[in-house]
Amino acid sequence: MATDAHQVPEPIPNQNLESKMSAAMTLRSLCHTLRKTPQLLSAARVRKCLRAQQFNSSCTSLTPEFKHGQDIGEIRPPVDLLTAEETMMKESVAKVAREVIQPLVRKMDAESQMDKSVIEALFKNGLMGVEIPSEYGGTNGSFFMANLVIEELAKVDASVSVMCDVHNTLINSLLLKLGTSEQKDKYLPRLATDMVGSFCLSETESGSDAFALKMSALKQGDFYLLNGTKIWITNAEHAGMFLVMANANPTSGYKGITTFLVDRDTQGLSIGKKEDKLGIRASSTCPVHFDNVKVPATNVLGEVGHGYKYAIDILNEGRIGIGSQMLGLAEGCFNATIPYTQERKQFGKRIWDFQAMQHQIAHVATQIEACRLLIYNAARKKEAGEPFIKEAAMAKYYASEVAALTTTKCLEWMGGVGYTKDYPIEKYYRDCKIGAIYEGTSNIQLNTIAKCIDSEGIKP
Ligand SMILES: Cc1cc2nc3c(=O)[nH]c(=O)nc-3n(C[C@H](O)[C@H](O)[C@H](O)COP(=O)(O)OP(=O)(O)OC[C@H]3O[C@@H](n4cnc5c(N)ncnc54)[C@H](O)[C@@H]3O)c2cc1C
Repeated sequence: MATDAHQVPEPIPNQNLESKMSAAMTLRSLCHTLRKTPQLLSAARVRKCLRAQQFNSSCTSLTPEFKHGQDIGEIRPPVDLLTAEETMMKESVAKVAREVIQPLVRKMDAESQMDKSVIEALFKNGLMGVEIPSEYGGTNGSFFMANLVIEELAKVDASVSVMCDVHNTLINSLLLKLGTSEQKDKYLPRLATDMVGSFCLSETESGSDAFALKMSALKQGDFYLLNGTKIWITNAEHAGMFLVMANANPTSGYKGITTFLVDRDTQGLSIGKKEDKLGIRASSTCPVHFDNVKVPATNVLGEVGHGYKYAIDILNEGRIGIGSQMLGLAEGCFNATIPYTQERKQFGKRIWDFQAMQHQIAHVATQIEACRLLIYNAARKKEAGEPFIKEAAMAKYYASEVAALTTTKCLEWMGGVGYTKDYPIEKYYRDCKIGAIYEGTSNIQLNTIAKCIDSEGIKP
């Protein structure tokens, strides 16, 4: 714990929101209610809202109603203007993070173990089924809202955030897009309420070059036999189902890659030793072994041989989620540091009062703001059905850079105490490094960005 002399002030609870939401109202029922009453806003009403800077419940469903190219007068909503629904989602996740997760963060990091109560709270509050429709017991929210959840959780703990991120943006999303009605009926209600999912792509010989994967899926009648080992699998310790990429036709190269839904209790599936990591230590990262794992052909997700396309598509979206994780981490670190700079005195004044400090703080705040706009814009584009691959890669790449800059600077601004475990800053510093590695390293994001620019055919 922090020493009294350097205690960072507790965040102030949002009384306004808390009074709006009854304690018993879960996000699930909230989103369901709001989505039942969509409201088109006139341009005049939008203008009135924006001019008055009155972003409150009267702006419900503001952003989702705007279509690209739609004539709405001269006013366009700012990309970070949240709907009432999004605001309530964000604020109530912050409440869960503050009340349930925050008290356990240090313990979970020290023990490299996610507390069961945290996972239960994620499910109970509808955070593991953000985009799952209500008929399956989900929250019936949007992709943008899922990203807000990931961001808010990362402000408090990047490990909890990535659990939620992988589950929502990779597992749930792929099932929603590709699942047969039987697959959806079987898995979605559990994924929304009590069963964690893992995404299994990486192997020892295939990291950035993911489609060089060797895991085989041999067809035998109505079954496939899966053999091989996946590594670095997030959530593996807690997962009840694994979404697995394996090659069902190696002679076709990467065009044999197929996606399988594999239940944890399937014979031959075993979880290896947890990795001892630098950061996100409470997030379980394990190898998963498949030794003649018999999977019914009905558990193929989508079409045989299309797994590589599904992986590319879902990782393009998932990258926005990792961007959100890095954004939340940077914001959490910044918010935990600034009060200290305003309290700590040296040379007879607050360290905040030195212009050298102010310029650095202003620079980092600007980077965080730019990062937020990049991420929100990529998420809104994806949701609007606009091309978003370049923006998603930029968002993830930039957010990882900003998280690294922010945590380095915050640690320095705290002086010696920032270097200790009495404060959360050193953990943010360790946790941020993963942003430049998983779901495509920073070099891979830069490759994608360059490829997109090349194919855009920019003219002088
Ligand atoms: C904590 C953690 C959790 C993870 N979770 C999951 C998960 O849930 N599921 C899953 O499937 N995987 C997961 N991964 C794996 C992760 O996606 C890979 O680690 C990542 O894709 C990089 O692969 P690699 O580690 O093999 O590095 P490599 O591919 O060997 O890369 C090493 C270096 O070479 C550079 N490089 C490689 N190719 C190029 C190129 N073409 N151009 C320029 N530079 C290049 C990279 O940028 C990097 O700097 C996780 C990894 C970690 C560490």
